Amino acid sequence: MKALCWHGANDVRIGNVPDPTILNPRDAIIKITSTAICGSDLHILDGYIPSMKEGDILGHEFMGEVVELGSAVKNVKIGDRVVVPFTISCGGCFFCQRDLWSLCDNSNPNGWMAEAAMGHSPSGLFGYSHMFGGYAGGQAEYARVPFADVGLFKVPDGLSDDQVLFLTDIFPTGYMAAENCNIEPGDTVAVWGCGPVGQFAIKSAFMLGAERVIAIDRIPERLQMAKEQCGAEIINYEEIDAGEAVKEMTGGRGPDSCIDAVGMEAHGTGPMAMYDQVKQAVRLETDRPTALRQVILSCRKGGHVSLAGVYGGFLDKVPFGAAFNKGLTFKMGQTHMHRYIKPLMEAVQQGKIDPSFVITHKLPLDQAPHGYEIFRDKKENCIKVVLKP
Ligand SMILES: [Zn+2]
Ligand SMILES: [Zn+2]
Repeated sequence: MKALCWHGANDVRIGNVPDPTILNPRDAIIKITSTAICGSDLHILDGYIPSMKEGDILGHEFMGEVVELGSAVKNVKIGDRVVVPFTISCGGCFFCQRDLWSLCDNSNPNGWMAEAAMGHSPSGLFGYSHMFGGYAGGQAEYARVPFADVGLFKVPDGLSDDQVLFLTDIFPTGYMAAENCNIEPGDTVAVWGCGPVGQFAIKSAFMLGAERVIAIDRIPERLQMAKEQCGAEIINYEEIDAGEAVKEMTGGRGPDSCIDAVGMEAHGTGPMAMYDQVKQAVRLETDRPTALRQVILSCRKGGHVSLAGVYGGFLDKVPFGAAFNKGLTFKMGQTHMHRYIKPLMEAVQQGKIDPSFVITHKLPLDQAPHGYEIFRDKKENCIKVVLKP
């Protein structure tokens, strides 16, 4: 089959690889009909995710048709259309039983690598390095889905791929980011980063009762989408100081909650941003926490800070004293996908949201390297790329 393979930093190519096969009774094989490139794939492209190997297949946002089933998978049939959550979860462990699906204890065969770095291992992830299980991703014609009896969600008739594809990651991720803000009626939420997850965080914040959402970015087309499609008030941080502006827009008090939908490769202005660029480039710092610093300094006292952008390692000069003295509550983590897919699929079915609004580019799988390039460099007004195998 054809698949998008990683060959090194800034080197991804379409190659021919062996078809996946059933390895365990709980596996399924999916013929992929739609797959997307995610902001967190760019961290791999840029070479910031360790334990990648030459030839690894990327992609963790994919859906398709069931073509082969292990003997233990009874919840779906051959031919069903399904979406696949990007986190791999067993359904039976301590964490899965407590609805903490992205912390599954049984889905990362390389858990020891993550334990060495983090103390414990989170769940395995599709297409996201060997530290997270070394699973082949879904930017391909076919994929093997382990624990398919809990990891496949049937798509109801009448919904298109474009409407449900983002249930595999970015819609639930934006939704959990907003849910982690403990939004109360009348609240103001500020969202740093208007990439696809940021857009869904804005929409979700309104769905959960926020009165105002302030969105911060530097890319005009993203800000325009945040304003026109999602109803946010917008700040371009290259034109004005976002920290000051957010404070002013909230009468000096600061937003009730702040979402960092940027993560480890933040851009920024000023000497701190320069410091991070240099330290990360020479690998003295794994993450550039520009957005996180501003989030902590901007959030109102006693407010909630929600982290949806991916962090991988160690952060420098995070104003932890400010976080402590302002009594902030932090919530973060990979999304507990299996908790959200059904209710959010229903929200799509009921017409409360149409997630396809973020798609700016549809390309054949063959053109995936080009898709990565325009998404990374924000060329052609690219916000979200969908690939069609
Ligand atoms: Zn993703
Ligand atoms: Zn589990």
